Amino acid sequence: MKVVVVGGGPAGLITGLRLIEKGISPLVIERRGDMSSTACAEGCDAASLGEIPFDSSPYVSKYIEGTRFFFPKGYSFSSSRKGVVLDRSRWLRGMAKEFVERGGEIKNARVTAVYENEIVLGNGERVNYDILIGADGPFSLVSKYLGNKQEVLLAVQYKIECDTSDMNLMELYFDRRFSSHYSWVFPKSGMVNAGLAGDFSQLDDFVDFLGIEGKIIKKEAGAIPVSGIANKVAEGKIALIGDAASMTNPLSGGGLTPIIHASSILAANIDNLKNYEREVKKHQLASPALVKAKNLLMKLTNRELEEMGRMVDGRTFEEMRFSDILGMMRHPLLIPKMFTLGRGLVITMKWGW
Ligand SMILES: Cc1cc2nc3c(=O)[nH]c(=O)nc-3n(C[C@H](O)[C@H](O)[C@H](O)COP(=O)(O)OP(=O)(O)OC[C@H]3O[C@@H](n4cnc5c(N)ncnc54)[C@H](O)[C@@H]3O)c2cc1C
Repeated sequence: MKVVVVGGGPAGLITGLRLIEKGISPLVIERRGDMSSTACAEGCDAASLGEIPFDSSPYVSKYIEGTRFFFPKGYSFSSSRKGVVLDRSRWLRGMAKEFVERGGEIKNARVTAVYENEIVLGNGERVNYDILIGADGPFSLVSKYLGNKQEVLLAVQYKIECDTSDMNLMELYFDRRFSSHYSWVFPKSGMVNAGLAGDFSQLDDFVDFLGIEGKIIKKEAGAIPVSGIANKVAEGKIALIGDAASMTNPLSGGGLTPIIHASSILAANIDNLKNYEREVKKHQLASPALVKAKNLLMKLTNRELEEMGRMVDGRTFEEMRFSDILGMMRHPLLIPKMFTLGRGLVITMKWGW
């Protein structure tokens, strides 16, 4: 069976490694000659990362003890779910090398057109396939071929050189002065990834507010799909995975954890793609509750966020009970927002944001 994967980002390579485990050696077609990463804050849930059939530990820049959620006026609560911040470009190159060593093939080319039985590359070459996997990111050509449309949030990020020796949490800021979704600071070894959904002038304000002093060594921008899993994830001989299938958790913006889970479902159903679509859509990370929670989050004013922060201040996610959320729902400003947000947060924290 000739399996061709368009895109050698996390979705393409992790799926490729999973298929090799099943005895199938796919061809991955990637347009970036250096296999570098697209814009990413590089955070990943530690438990999910451990499920990939590849040792990611040499590519971890920092181990993370948990996440702190900040609200206006400095209120915060935290979670102790463990994470990592990766050196994502090195990680992708490491996976690509291992993929080839285990029998996979990578071709450096841009796919310019998709047809029922073949794809066309930038140099005019035609490549036929038995199964085509679209892992070509948020503006996926393969997804467009299937007729999908998706909504994306534009996000920007600086990599700032600074001392991170005493930083071991991922920080998320819910504050409308900076972003209509949220802003983040993820520590790596010797630098932080500071970013937000928004533009660079908003990011400058955020970095000033944080008081981070250090040299900006990279400016990045990218798109995060937030409309929930694509309408068509598979049709005929074609399947989608990752941002191409809009699999990102819309509430957290995290795309790596959904890819890790979906790649396992895809490899198990490679000879029955409709089943892959059914199974992946049943996954809690594809739940419409997450889109609902994201839509609500983006409507909250700073006054509401501050109230929410006041109620959860100093607590941890792990010690919170459903009855706490019910109690918060009685708050005149927050009815019934806490339930919708709480449900989204519970799914996110269960699977890893
Ligand atoms: C600023 C920002 C921060 C983020 N931070 C995090 C985070 O901390 N944690 C997290 O889990 N998620 C994060 N995300 C989301 C995460 O980066 C994505 O969900 C993830 O990269 C999706 O992987 P993918 O392989 O599906 O797509 P991509 O990473 O976009 O990879 C697609 C690949 O396909 C290639 N390609 C595209 N078109 C073609 C073509 N026509 N021919 C050949 N090759 C092609 C591209 O070059 C690329 O290498 C962030 C996103 C952004 C924008």
